[in-house]
Amino acid sequence: MQAEVNENIVVFFGNQYVPLAEARVSILTHALNYGTGVFDGVRGYWDEKQHELFLVRPEDHFVRWKTNCGILRLDVPLTAAELSEVTAELIRRNRFRTNVYVRPLAYKAAQRIGVIPDDRDAFAVMVVPFGDYLDSREGLHAGVVSWRRLEDNAIPGRAKICGAYVNSALASDEARRNGFDEAIFLNESGHVAEGATCNIFLVKNGKLVTPPGTENILEGITRDCVMELARRELNMEVTERPVDRSELYVCDEVFFTGTAVEVAPVVEVDHRPVKSGVIGPVARQLRRLYYEATRGYLAHYQHWLMRVYHPAIVGKAA
Ligand code: PMP
Repeated sequence: MQAEVNENIVVFFGNQYVPLAEARVSILTHALNYGTGVFDGVRGYWDEKQHELFLVRPEDHFVRWKTNCGILRLDVPLTAAELSEVTAELIRRNRFRTNVYVRPLAYKAAQRIGVIPDDRDAFAVMVVPFGDYLDSREGLHAGVVSWRRLEDNAIPGRAKICGAYVNSALASDEARRNGFDEAIFLNESGHVAEGATCNIFLVKNGKLVTPPGTENILEGITRDCVMELARRELNMEVTERPVDRSELYVCDEVFFTGTAVEVAPVVEVDHRPVKSGVIGPVARQLRRLYYEATRGYLAHYQHWLMRVYHPAIVGKAA
């Protein structure tokens, strides 16, 4: 659990840089009452040796966010490049020299009763100091929950729609109360979809498998990074296909990916050890590669990163 945020940090709200304490919305706000917002999540990593803070694929996150805002007909008037620059400026103004999490949030802002949304849209960008989301150093215990992943025809899971996260909150709550670290969702067709806040991969016979975008998952940017790292650095075949629940019990490795969880190995599913119940070699290597790539240590992945404090150093491996 992360600590409560200091009210003096500067956020971008109403097109201005203001202290968090001044970024207030009305209790009648449409999005608060009906869940009509879309958010995203971006990580920034501070590297002490280089005295640099690296934002991980900020433009890709902002493009996804703006595109998904379109599902709710929410308009964000800045470009992805401008939003990345706002984010870097927030980090500089707050003088953050630590790992951070960026939360862009667009929402229906009308103050009235009635579910029909209109065009009164607003958005904000917040950056907060952020440590580990889950402690996965020894591997996680995950459990399939009784809640099903929401259907595309009800609330599209491919967008980070605020109201849709009731589904993830219910799943996380059930998993934690049942003694697991993280939930695994099945979808209505009974296939494995994803975790409550992360994508899922399994390894079988040296091949990587993950559910495709049509299985009611959020197509994660970390998922995309990991597929590229597996193909390019580990020479692995990666297949996107429907996954049965029992495949999780008989495979060689399971791990989650996500901006918050990063690459998180799973050593037990539904009280069954994954293989021998310890972190496997593929998850271990991908976790290390992802760590190095997101701190600027791998030359080939520099284009994933935006340097906040020394933007002039472009594409130079540390
Ligand atoms: N699935 C869900 C439901 C999520 O909330 C997240 C977190 N954004 C992910 C997957 C992982 O996506 P990403 O790697 O882009 O953070």
